[in-house]
Amino acid sequence: MIVYLNGEFLPSGEARISPDDRGFVFGDGVYEVTRAVRGQPFAAEAHWKRLETGLRELGIRTSLDSGRILEIYLRLLSENALEDGEATIYLQVTRGRAPRAHAFPPATIQPTVYAFASRFSPPIEQRRAGVNAITYPDIRWSRCDIKTVNLLPNVLAKQKAVEMGGWEAVLVRDGVLIEGSSSNLFGVIDGELRTYPRTNYILPGITRQVVLELAAELGIPAREAPIFVGEMGRLEELFLTGTATDVQGIVTLDGYRVGDGVVGPITKALWEGLMGRLGSSIS
Ligand code: PMP
Repeated sequence: MIVYLNGEFLPSGEARISPDDRGFVFGDGVYEVTRAVRGQPFAAEAHWKRLETGLRELGIRTSLDSGRILEIYLRLLSENALEDGEATIYLQVTRGRAPRAHAFPPATIQPTVYAFASRFSPPIEQRRAGVNAITYPDIRWSRCDIKTVNLLPNVLAKQKAVEMGGWEAVLVRDGVLIEGSSSNLFGVIDGELRTYPRTNYILPGITRQVVLELAAELGIPAREAPIFVGEMGRLEELFLTGTATDVQGIVTLDGYRVGDGVVGPITKALWEGLMGRLGSSIS
């Protein structure tokens, strides 16, 4: 595999990052995962904007811009023979290598920029069948809107879900279903779509935004408002969204059936709509 590291394209086995990198020592960095279909990154500009916001919030200065990132992505896809079918591209930017000290290093320290692309095949049967999920306390910090590489609470939540025979953990804060450990969450109650509002408590998902647009196009009533734990029994449908999650129906939550226990019509319509936008085949 050919990866990108600090201006160079090189075999992954030759990529070296210092143990003094602040990404390793402090988790001091941000990342993005972008989908590519037939060699074309999807919503590249929206991903760049979110990364740029994260970098600004953390005070990490780079010479990156959306044009340079697109160049890197296209080259990774071609170097790795990923221009047919589908792929995901991972990009991480850390504050760089410096002697360990909490405060920022001098501005002369260059950020570390690392990216790789890999094959992705959406699990179509799983999308149609739905998955099991669990609820798990949201023990993350208060800036979940920044896509940082500090993912320990997310890792613990996902691991618990796997141990319980589930696919995703739905994070609960103050009696509200917030989002998944690596996805946003939508529910349907009384025929109306609901997803947690865009605040510091969720990641502003690119897929979430596309799904909200699709709902408007399809005439599905939708509201950015919390779903309370006390409303779980009233959920007609529940689904997750994400770059590698698409629109993924949840059929059981904490072992209880959601709605009829199958992927519902609104979930299915939005999944098909998203696959259409992506140009991803579902046949
Ligand atoms: N929330 C969290 C916590 C995530 O990790 C992700 C996936 N990166 C998402 C939501 C979905 O975001 P996107 O649609 O941009 O992939």
